[in-house]
Amino acid sequence: MKKMITPFITLLLCTLGLIARQQEPNRKQYTLVIHGGAGTIVKTAMTSAKEAAYEEVLTKALQTGYHILQEGGAALDAVEATIHVLEDSPLFNAAKGAVFTNNGRNELDASIMDGRTLNAGAVAGVTNIRNPITAARAVMEKSEHVMLSGKGAENFAQQVGVTLVDPSYFYTQDRWDALQRALKKDSTAAGENVDNRQAAKAGTVNRDDKFGTVGCVALDQQGNLAAGTSTGGMTNKKFGRIGDSPVIGAGTYANNESVAVSCTGWGEFYIRHVVAHDIAALMSYKQLSVEEAAAAVMAKVANAGGDGGLIALDKAGNMAMPFNTEGMYRGAVDRHGNIEVKIYKD
Ligand code: ASP
Repeated sequence: MKKMITPFITLLLCTLGLIARQQEPNRKQYTLVIHGGAGTIVKTAMTSAKEAAYEEVLTKALQTGYHILQEGGAALDAVEATIHVLEDSPLFNAAKGAVFTNNGRNELDASIMDGRTLNAGAVAGVTNIRNPITAARAVMEKSEHVMLSGKGAENFAQQVGVTLVDPSYFYTQDRWDALQRALKKDSTAAGENVDNRQAAKAGTVNRDDKFGTVGCVALDQQGNLAAGTSTGGMTNKKFGRIGDSPVIGAGTYANNESVAVSCTGWGEFYIRHVVAHDIAALMSYKQLSVEEAAAAVMAKVANAGGDGGLIALDKAGNMAMPFNTEGMYRGAVDRHGNIEVKIYKD
């Protein structure tokens, strides 16, 4: 008898613990969380006008998503519309304002995932799609595939009526100047006779100019989670490099059973550590809270030498936004519509 009672009591205590954690009375319940990239974002390098401009767009993005959710709309719709606001702003490294590749192009990556169905869609290396997040959603809903790349993705987007633009639409002076700085560093490295492989590596990973990827996670009134991420990748990327942002499980993941996650940072590390899915797995298999799981996985990335951050929102409206860089553009809105926007470390 005792043998049967002990596991029963343990199970009961675990369940009660879980319920207590999900329903802590003073805990805020969030409905939508965003990021606008992590990196060397320090107050001393920022003007108050620039700071205000970032805060304004982040706030507008949160309001857009919140409005949809408040009306009873789907998490997926909120994620797409919120990311549109960030993609359309030249301040962020996604769509308009995307960073440049080594050969002076903008190659965009995006993905979206529906936590209710586990359906997902992604585009990689596209050059003429105005809102890559919408193309990613079209891949999810209008094709039998999960990820389309390059010309094929562009042809598909055209066929299903996604808005295309001339590639010059994505140009911004700031990002162009960042590429020129990166190219100069590349040629200096070559001039110093640095091993070619090292130079290629250093050039590809331009860590100072990479931040600005955008992402959103949302929880709707029906209890559905969704996540999306959109980026231009990393300044001076070469050879058709694709980062973590369009990779489901690495840069983006959503599952109604656990959590919705969107990542930003040094993509190669996020792919190797399957960051977004690892957080969901820790929550499902080990019953870690969203804060514990997100912190544990960020620590793995940091220990491996990677940097960046992420946003995560669980099915009860608890959220985490850890990062190991100087700053991360980020914001959240709770279920009463209270908005928080932050840029630097607390
Ligand atoms: N994760 C993106 C990439 O590696 C870049 C970023 O988030 O800053 O493409």
